[in-house]
Amino acid sequence: MSELKPCPFCTTGAVYEQVDGGADSYRWAVGCSNLDCIGVQSLKTYSRKKDAAEVWNNRPIEDALMEALQILVDAHSEDGHLCNELKIARAALKQAGVKDE
Ligand SMILES: [Zn+2]
Repeated sequence: MSELKPCPFCTTGAVYEQVDGGADSYRWAVGCSNLDCIGVQSLKTYSRKKDAAEVWNNRPIEDALMEALQILVDAHSEDGHLCNELKIARAALKQAGVKDE
């Protein structure tokens, strides 16, 4: 089972949803667990749970930005002193689930 990224709108955890697929079958969707969030219901359903997770977790722009931010933090962390801006950047990386080494 794939781990789900947090909601891109509110950062609350995501959940799998089983949706009736008709004819005694069901389909999978992923949505935000915060009922007040716009991301609470995904628009598409998938026959495989794995595919629903893959689509939910596919965030190329966010991934590219986090990678660039990680490079910036790493480049300025070598002396062990982080300015406030880099501390904020490191917190954003942590919240996005990017591994902090
Ligand atoms: Zn949300």
